[in-house]
Amino acid sequence: MPILRDNYAWVVHDGRDAVVVDPGQADPILSWLHHHGLHLKAILVTHHHGDHVGGIAGLLAQSPCPVYGPAAEPIPLRTHALADGDRVRLAAPALELAVLAVPGHTLGHLAYFGHGYLFCGDTLFSCGCGRLFEGTAAQMHASLTRLAALPEDTLVCCAHEYTLANIAFAQTVDADNLRLHAWAELARRLRRQQRPTLPTRMAQERATNPFLRCDRPELRVAVSRMAGHEARTPVEVFALLRALKDEFHA
Ligand code: ZN
Ligand code: FE
Repeated sequence: MPILRDNYAWVVHDGRDAVVVDPGQADPILSWLHHHGLHLKAILVTHHHGDHVGGIAGLLAQSPCPVYGPAAEPIPLRTHALADGDRVRLAAPALELAVLAVPGHTLGHLAYFGHGYLFCGDTLFSCGCGRLFEGTAAQMHASLTRLAALPEDTLVCCAHEYTLANIAFAQTVDADNLRLHAWAELARRLRRQQRPTLPTRMAQERATNPFLRCDRPELRVAVSRMAGHEARTPVEVFALLRALKDEFHA
C-alpha cells in the first residue's frame, strides 16, 4: 500500500492474519487492516530509515506483535534481531522467508525472500537502486548481484515508487535497450492510471535495470563516455553509474 510521499508498505495476508513490511506510517495501515478485517501478526523491517520504521510504535499501540529487523541497526521496538542466513517462520499467515544481508544503502540492510516474493526495501528499485548512504559501491554491487541471481520469476517488492524517474535515467545510459523502452511505455501508462508499477519481475529487472547490467559492454562504453573516464570492471561501472544517477535530474 502507498504511504507517505512515495513509499510502499507491503502487506502479506491470508484473509485473516497479516504481516506488514516496512511500515513507515501507522494510520493508513491500521485503517486498511481494519477495513479488511485483518489481524496484524508481525512487522518486518529492511533497514532503519524513518520512512520504513516510523509506523512501528503506532501499529504496536493498536496490535502488539513481534518486530523483525536487522540486528546491525537500531530498529525501534524490535523483538527479533536478524542476520544473513536466518529464516523468519510464521504460523499465521503461513510464511517462511529467507533473510539476506544486502549492505550498501545502509550497512545492516536486509532483504526477505520466499514464496516467490522479494522484499528488498531500498536496495533494488525498478530500473534503479538505493543511494549509497552507508556502504561502498563494491558492497552495493555485490548485494545487487546477489539479488539478481534469485529466480527470474521472483516478484520484486521495492519500498519506493521511483520507477519513472529511474527509467528516465536508464534511457540515457542504455539508449538502445528495446525492453527498457517497452517498460517505459507500460510504466507511464500505469502511473497515468494511478496504479503502482510494482511489484516488478526479476527477469525484467535483469533486462532493463542498468544497475544489474554493469557487466554489459554497451553499459561500460556509455557510462565511461558520460563520466569522462574509463571504467574497467563491473564495480567501476556501477560506481560511475551511481554517481551519474546522483547528479541526474530529468
Ligand atoms: Zn532508506
Ligand atoms: Fe526509503
